Amino acid sequence: MTTEAPPTTTPLIRGINLRKTYRLGRVDVPVLHGASIDVNEGEWVAILGSSGSGKSTLLHLLGGLDHPDNEGGQVYFQGQEVLLNDGGETNQYRNSSIGFVFQFYHLLPELDVLENAMLTTLVTRRLGTRLVALFLALAGAGVGAWIGSMAVLSWGLLPLTEQTQFRASMLGIACAILGGATMIALTQVALAATVRTKTSTGHTADVTRKTVTDFGLSNRFRHRPRELSGGERQRVAIARALGSDPKVLLADEPTGNLDAATGREILDLLKERHQRGLTIVMVTHDPAVAGYADRIVRLDDGQIQEETQEDTSSRSSYASHA
Ligand code: ADP
Ligand code: MG
Repeated sequence: MTTEAPPTTTPLIRGINLRKTYRLGRVDVPVLHGASIDVNEGEWVAILGSSGSGKSTLLHLLGGLDHPDNEGGQVYFQGQEVLLNDGGETNQYRNSSIGFVFQFYHLLPELDVLENAMLTTLVTRRLGTRLVALFLALAGAGVGAWIGSMAVLSWGLLPLTEQTQFRASMLGIACAILGGATMIALTQVALAATVRTKTSTGHTADVTRKTVTDFGLSNRFRHRPRELSGGERQRVAIARALGSDPKVLLADEPTGNLDAATGREILDLLKERHQRGLTIVMVTHDPAVAGYADRIVRLDDGQIQEETQEDTSSRSSYASHA
């Protein structure tokens, strides 16, 4: 463990001495060599770095999407260490404190706009749902096996003799599989119906509808991602990230896949949320995009360097074109 003391003043999010090495077969690919960053509440910080410098890796560590090397530093949130190797705690942190936005949106193609936007709030009690689904599948398999054995033993569909013994057990197994599969299919239909109801009624649905409307997508509620432009998809992804009312939005090249004008619209939307108090950590390779932030740091050689005056003056501002 690193001996560095926990923060005395409390940044909202703090990465200390983060190290990350990927292993490709027998080859070690070191990416972060002790990157440290503090982000205060209400700040918009841009992490600027070239492609492959480890920006996504760093953001994933800060957001609990990945964990550092063994003894490879810590992440603090509101002064509390986030135990990134503890699945339960990391899930809790990711689901309630952090909103994530990705360059390629990562929307689910089979869900519509409202369903996608509500995804973070719907992903609760997953374990409970899985256990119920498992129980129903087993119950279905049991009923199937029972029907199979009744068919053989009581209904005489396949008279049980020494010659038919093998076929009879096959029939039992087939009925069990059919029963289990039927129950799994029914569970999926029931889950889909629940999701549809939840995305149509109730408080969460109202809040999501308002956010999506604020983002200019009021006439797109039931559209699928493939029917939307890149900018519209990113708006849905931002609405999804804000769904759990996170303290901080972590954005990974949020305009990286958009043309400049659409990129500016997305940055303006983030700016508006930032002005309303949202803390943002955004990574980008584009100095003009970084120009939207209150503060820029560079990720160089696996470490965070504060930006110099010279860097600032050489940066042309995206914002100035807006
Ligand atoms: P950036 O976001 O700045 O482009 P990344 O954090 O995605 O950089 O990646 C940094 C380096 O780590 C790259 O060289 C990349 O190839 C490597 N890398 C990223 N993810 C993995 C992975 N899962 N396995 C192996 N190498 C990876
Ligand atoms: Mg990246």
